[in-house]
Amino acid sequence: MSNNPVISIVSPIYNEVGNIQTLYGRIHAVMEATGESWELILVNDGSTDGSTEALQALYAQDPIHVRVIHFSRNFGHAVAVTAGMDYSSGHAVILIDADLQDPPEMLPDMIRKWREGYEVVYAVRTKREGESWFKLATASLFYRILYRITDVDIPLDTGDFRLMARQVVDVIDNMNEKHRFLRGMVSWVGFRQTGVEYVRDKRYSGETKYPFRKMLRFAWDGITGFSYLPLQLATYLGFAIAALSGLAILLVVYLRAFTNAEPLEGQATTLVVVLFLGSVQLISLGIIGEYLGRIYNEVRGRPLYIVSNVLGIERVSHAGACTNSTSKRRQEKKNE
Ligand code: UDP
Ligand code: MG
Repeated sequence: MSNNPVISIVSPIYNEVGNIQTLYGRIHAVMEATGESWELILVNDGSTDGSTEALQALYAQDPIHVRVIHFSRNFGHAVAVTAGMDYSSGHAVILIDADLQDPPEMLPDMIRKWREGYEVVYAVRTKREGESWFKLATASLFYRILYRITDVDIPLDTGDFRLMARQVVDVIDNMNEKHRFLRGMVSWVGFRQTGVEYVRDKRYSGETKYPFRKMLRFAWDGITGFSYLPLQLATYLGFAIAALSGLAILLVVYLRAFTNAEPLEGQATTLVVVLFLGSVQLISLGIIGEYLGRIYNEVRGRPLYIVSNVLGIERVSHAGACTNSTSKRRQEKKNE
């Protein structure tokens, strides 16, 4: 039995009720024009705004192309996308945001590059419409820092809007990390990668799901997932402060032994030094704690996501829960 579509399009949905129909409409128009067979996998990441009903309706409208995965609660963008990849069956998988900031009209270009032999085709934003200068500035700073301190070369100005060949999708699905910094993982995997340029549109409707707090967590996932630099900072700082204190000791001995200088006034200086060292130590401990928490999360080995219901995909046995490493769906596929 092999009626697998060639292209799987995966889109995470978290409270996107106003975007679902338009997203489907534009993808449908574009994909029918390419003549490729395709499926659209919509992962409902615990929406509470009527998206759930909208997805049911969309499935009823086009059960040939539409597949829906409902999560038991909100698990976050990267996990939702991973689930979509897990359940996809196409030879190539395309990740696209549901808010139409990533224009579906780019899909044919990406597919063409894939046909030329690239395993990863990422979309590079040349311009971003309707984002605050603050978001643009922090994003730009973050990617430039990340670029400097990590060993993987994450291309600048790319998001998760990208096409991946089946080989790459399978590798990513088998990378078990719980804190998934997807764009880093895809770069890390290697293969032949290339970019196509596009202008990032405004959100079609609704609001961003990434307030500043979540963006910080996202940035921190990227850094800790791909760099030890924060851990090494304590060592570097330690050496720097030790060198400074060495000099200070020499200075004090010199003043005492060879000059008539007044003895150094103590209280305030001592306090400042103690507080400074105390805070450096606390920060270092905190950084170790961050990594430790991540290790704890990994070894606990909880499932990455919990599926409550699927539409258009053969039911993945009764449990529903599935870790990405032991995807029941994939095992079933092998058994077929
Ligand atoms: N999203 C999700 N789970 C979340 C947050 C976001 O599935 O916890 C989805 C959201 O529905 C959208 C995509 O991820 O399709 C990108 O989110 P958003 O547009 O809010 O991020 P931004 O473009 O503002 O960075
Ligand atoms: Mg968006």
